[in-house]
Amino acid sequence: MKILVAEDDPISRMKLETMLRKWGYETVVCQDGTSAWELIQREECPQLLILDWMMPGLDGVELCRRVRSLSREPYVYVLLLTARDDKDDIVRGMEAGADDYITKPYHPHELEVRVRAGRRIAELNLELLAARNALKQQATHDALTGLLNRRAILEYLDKELARGLRRQENLCVGLMDIDHFKLINDTHGHQVGDEVLCELASRLSQALRPYDRVGRYGGEEFLVVISDCDCALIRKHYDRLRLALSEKPFATAAGPVAVTASIGVGIVQRDRFVDTYGLIRLADQALYRAKEQGRNRVELEMT
Ligand SMILES: [Mg+2]
Repeated sequence: MKILVAEDDPISRMKLETMLRKWGYETVVCQDGTSAWELIQREECPQLLILDWMMPGLDGVELCRRVRSLSREPYVYVLLLTARDDKDDIVRGMEAGADDYITKPYHPHELEVRVRAGRRIAELNLELLAARNALKQQATHDALTGLLNRRAILEYLDKELARGLRRQENLCVGLMDIDHFKLINDTHGHQVGDEVLCELASRLSQALRPYDRVGRYGGEEFLVVISDCDCALIRKHYDRLRLALSEKPFATAAGPVAVTASIGVGIVQRDRFVDTYGLIRLADQALYRAKEQGRNRVELEMT
């Protein structure tokens, strides 16, 4: 783990650096509070800081205050080095946001265990953040395809509808359904069906522009949201997605499988209002027509 040390006294700075290295830490060393503050504001700032209280320019307590005002994630642990052992001073340091302090002159072993305690807190915080991110990923993404799940894509659509209304932009949602998916499952088994879903997810993700979104709506149904789209280009956009699937067969464990999909597109024009389910209903009507008219095609329905 990397530690940022800010200490103006050259001898105690060198001692500190030597000890920390001996204990296996990487160090970034600053000679005053101002240069420490510059480093702290950077993205790659160490998670553990050892700050001398008395320094020219910005002192340790002021640095603490500033670190806390950044409300950084992951958490930054601050150990204050102080020659002051007046209780009021210590309280002031802790109130400014220090996690711990050590009074100079200190015993090296005491410093070692206090730094270790700080490292533990920093590592626990990292684990917590990783767990939180994993949970968030699980809550918003489909486990099989890795696409947004139904709830997440509907939430996204809600937000885009509100945004489109505010900005007077068109919004379209494509409801895509794999043609004869049941037949693929019945002929080749569900494992191949799953492979087809995954390959489709990857082809769609590659074909979409970075600001469009796709999510798994149901078993073999997907929602593709395209914001602020020129009405004349809507069909072309969705046709491109359709072609990304049909242009070459999907490689599966059972060999190549030809996959096509039908897409019904609901379009809400810039001056109209429709809610999420109203828009999906439009897309559903268009999808029904696409199926009726022979599948592997795009149909549109406007407000
Ligand atoms: Mg000093």
